[in-house]
Amino acid sequence: ATPMSIMVSVGRAAQLGVLVRNGEALQTASKVTTVVLDKTGTVTQGAPELTDILMLSESAVDESVNKAELLKNVASLEQHSEHPLASAIINKAKQDGLVLVEPEQFTNYQGMGISGQVNGQQYSVGNLSLMQQLQIGESADCEQLSAELASQAKTPIFVAVDKQLVAIMAIADPIKTDAAEAIRAMKAKGLKVVMLTGDNQITANAVAEKVGIDTVVANVLPEQKQAKVLELQQAGEVVAMVGDGINDAPALVSADVGFAMGSGTDIAIESADFTLLSSRLMVINDTLALSKASMNNIK
Ligand code: ADP
Ligand code: MG
Repeated sequence: ATPMSIMVSVGRAAQLGVLVRNGEALQTASKVTTVVLDKTGTVTQGAPELTDILMLSESAVDESVNKAELLKNVASLEQHSEHPLASAIINKAKQDGLVLVEPEQFTNYQGMGISGQVNGQQYSVGNLSLMQQLQIGESADCEQLSAELASQAKTPIFVAVDKQLVAIMAIADPIKTDAAEAIRAMKAKGLKVVMLTGDNQITANAVAEKVGIDTVVANVLPEQKQAKVLELQQAGEVVAMVGDGINDAPALVSADVGFAMGSGTDIAIESADFTLLSSRLMVINDTLALSKASMNNIK
């Protein structure tokens, strides 16, 4: 393509609400065969809400740990996390009028959760992989409770105090209103659609089913998201990756074409070829179509 025709396409993309960081990607976009979508903030709205706090009956923790105190301490720790789930927990604590404190210590486990010391107690907050890594034992009812929440497309967050599992928090993130339509349109064009997420398999499957995605890779760490993109490319696919998080950045770089949600983290935006100013997934279809149309004009 000539510099002139690329400039024209960049202008058309802007009209669609797509900022082009890399003009060459506008050409590659016409050849895409697989679209890989992150879940949280990409297929879902990224406006998660804390819906339930379930105290685990068997927890051998003294009665001083009540729901409000638990929420206050977890929210206090989450103030140091950039994860969208963190804001759901903080918002609920603030709605409940809880006054957050400064933790004595904080550790982030990318793609798994957080831990730290609040009011002299050691809190660990995150997914099952984090509980396993920190050697926190599961209780009998926790597996069934978390599976129930997950099958409702909610994300279960495990909370341990001093290495004892004490509660499960459930977080719901509504699916984008145009997600099912956009995915149907991708499939109608012969594109393969894959969802990649750091969240657990049951929640991921529940979301995928609602939007018509058949291929789901769950429980993946950021490097594993990138590895999955490379694997698809080795199998001959031309991959468009769509994401918003720090955890999507390596995959966005490796993909043939990277789309970042404009609401996403700076590192995702810097790693992508395109930034979507609207949260609508349909804009991805529009961009791929624009790319095809402009390539046909050039030929
Ligand atoms: P996604 O790929 O869906 O955007 P992430 O890789 O960012 O998901 O996160 C994977 C999982 O790690 C989350 O579903 C959650 O269970 C856990 N997690 C990550 N960060 C936090 C946090 N700050 N607080 C609680 N849990 C977290
Ligand atoms: Mg995300």
